[in-house]
Amino acid sequence: MPVSLTAKHVRCKIAAAIREAVHRNLTSNEDIERFIDENLPFSIRGSYGGNTSCVEIRGGDEFVLCDAGTGLRDFGNHIMSAGYGVKKVYNIFLSHTHWDHIQGFPFFIPAFIPGNRINIYSFHTEAEHVFQSQQNSLTFPVPLESMSAEKQFIILKPDREYDIAGFRVRGIKQNHPGDSYGYCFERHDKKIVYATDSEHKEDVWDAEQKVINFFRNADLLIFDAQYSFLESAHVKENWGHSSNLLGVELSVAANVRHLCLFHNEPLCDDESLDKFLQDTRNYLKIYSDASPLKIDLAFDGMELDI
Ligand SMILES: [Zn+2]
Ligand SMILES: [Zn+2]
Repeated sequence: MPVSLTAKHVRCKIAAAIREAVHRNLTSNEDIERFIDENLPFSIRGSYGGNTSCVEIRGGDEFVLCDAGTGLRDFGNHIMSAGYGVKKVYNIFLSHTHWDHIQGFPFFIPAFIPGNRINIYSFHTEAEHVFQSQQNSLTFPVPLESMSAEKQFIILKPDREYDIAGFRVRGIKQNHPGDSYGYCFERHDKKIVYATDSEHKEDVWDAEQKVINFFRNADLLIFDAQYSFLESAHVKENWGHSSNLLGVELSVAANVRHLCLFHNEPLCDDESLDKFLQDTRNYLKIYSDASPLKIDLAFDGMELDI
């Protein structure tokens, strides 16, 4: 679910920053900027944010997005303010139709603009029905049909390769209530895997190694790490999400270059997420000291070059 930063959180960040700054001789704007970047942890100088799933993949011939959570609203507003909002093609790849992956669509401004085309790719045959239902008059004032862009729902099949917007795209079925699907995007010898809402079981290590092969040699793996190992193994087992530690183990096994932990637990504040990231990096040192794997934790507005 989306979460917001409260006035109390902001006040705590300001107080912590002032406590760090008060005995330093910061006399210029450059001093202050350097102090922020070099001396304050991300949880104080920034925030992981609270949007639900939406990731843009750049470098293709058209817009490419994974999921339509509340982050899609920010993306649409950004596109409009940058003046790119008309006569464009948007390709949205849905992992599944749970609320947190579709709830940004009614607020996606480019979908209201005639001349735009929106292709919604899904492995779930009910996707169009679900989009119509969330804009039912009892829950939202504007029906899906009244959004003026041309919209098309396209059903994909797993284990087949598609050529979309200049990417080679494949999907894989994942263990999640009602099923979810991960995506692999390849172009110009670069590979990005978007694999969220998936609870991997022991069979990831079986002889077939289907998941590891899907992740194999990815330049970037965006991986569902909502839970800590303890949560995923006990209280929240079978809730449909994976842990940070499993993300590390699968990335090392698949020779992934950069792991981005994703689908952050909404109960965690910025400080606990900082610790979660540090714990994950520490675990990599114990698990495979020689691994060059780079690990980050997703935040709203994060940009990664591959
Ligand atoms: Zn889900
Ligand atoms: Zn989700």
